[in-house]
Amino acid sequence: MNVLVINCGSSSLKYQVINSDSEEVLAKGLCERIGIDGRLVYQPRGGEKEITDAPMPTHKEAVQMVLDALTNEKTGALKSLDEIDAIGHRIVHGGEKFTASTLINDEVIATVEECNDLAPLHNPANIIGINACRELMPSVPMVGVFDTAFHQTMPKEAYMYGVPYEYYEKYKVRKYGFHGTSHSFVSKRVAEVMGKDYNSLKTIVCHLGNGASICAVDHGKSVDTSMGLSPLEGLIMGTRSGDIDPSAVEFIANKEGLDMAGILNVLNKKSGVEGISGVSSDFRDLEKAATEGNERAKLAIDMFAYRVAKYVGSYAAAMNGVDVICFTAGIGENTGFIRKKVCDRLEFLGITLDAAANDTHGEEIKISTDDSKVAVYVIPTNEELAIARETVALVK
Ligand code: AMP
Repeated sequence: MNVLVINCGSSSLKYQVINSDSEEVLAKGLCERIGIDGRLVYQPRGGEKEITDAPMPTHKEAVQMVLDALTNEKTGALKSLDEIDAIGHRIVHGGEKFTASTLINDEVIATVEECNDLAPLHNPANIIGINACRELMPSVPMVGVFDTAFHQTMPKEAYMYGVPYEYYEKYKVRKYGFHGTSHSFVSKRVAEVMGKDYNSLKTIVCHLGNGASICAVDHGKSVDTSMGLSPLEGLIMGTRSGDIDPSAVEFIANKEGLDMAGILNVLNKKSGVEGISGVSSDFRDLEKAATEGNERAKLAIDMFAYRVAKYVGSYAAAMNGVDVICFTAGIGENTGFIRKKVCDRLEFLGITLDAAANDTHGEEIKISTDDSKVAVYVIPTNEELAIARETVALVK
């Protein structure tokens, strides 16, 4: 089966076509600047990247351009659209309504819309992408894969906030967690690599990318995760603050004359390691600046690693132990010095790193020594493949 995987943002659309038998990516790319001007990036397997500037007033034109590129006579990965057997959509917020991936129909779309106010920036874009695909390929089955679904197994003591209970009853205010597709993929994969039963392991997954979250997976179930009602809670990220005293939010807003939207913009887009360092949200830039003696870049790196280690420690406590810790996503897969800084703080768990193994980039590899009490792995994430697998499982 060929699965078209679609990940819509407010002005972007990332896509891949994956053959589910070979699990090969037949083509991939993205549409950028939708609603502004429009740019399509398309790359067939083994081929050159093509960039085309063309107007994309809405996601519908963007999807149409992707389909045209996929079936282009010269460079298209497919002969015709008939070769697309199913479409898998990443959907950010499924609230409490979706505990697993689901086949998309009118009722599902209406229910996703009900979750819009929980993810006002993301869910409407996801729905626009779904509707565009439905219009252009009405007979192709579609599956929604939710970032939140994997975390619906969290116990109530983990997901409730310490605010009046009625806010949960009236508005469903609680921790939901995100990156579920990645946490699920990585935790399953590490069990395979270790040759262990997934349902027997206590795993902590550190998904450290521009957005970053940690998840405690106890016997195959997410039991806690660092993001919350929105992706703003938890770790210090590229540009997001992560955990902060809510009183500081009011204090800053008053001092800076910001309204709620203004202060949330600061916490989401101007904070994190970028806000602290004043250098960049990218760890490659931070590492360079720190090496050159930039104290704030060093501080940003130390704060990031400290917060990761603190969450790992708390999740080891939440599960009453941990068998394996996994690092994944852009920073987790590529940045050995961050992994070392985190693991050095976790010596009390009996972790010892294999320095040579840790000196690698983007590889699936065990980075702890054989006598380390807790195993530590780098497991590259692959959210698109996970979405394709979920899609095939439901469509079949
Ligand atoms: P992601 O959101 O998973 O794509 O991760 C993006 C972040 O990963 C970037 O902002 C970088 O800080 C980091 N990153 C990606 N590739 C590398 C690399 N080769 N070396 C160091 N950091 C990297």
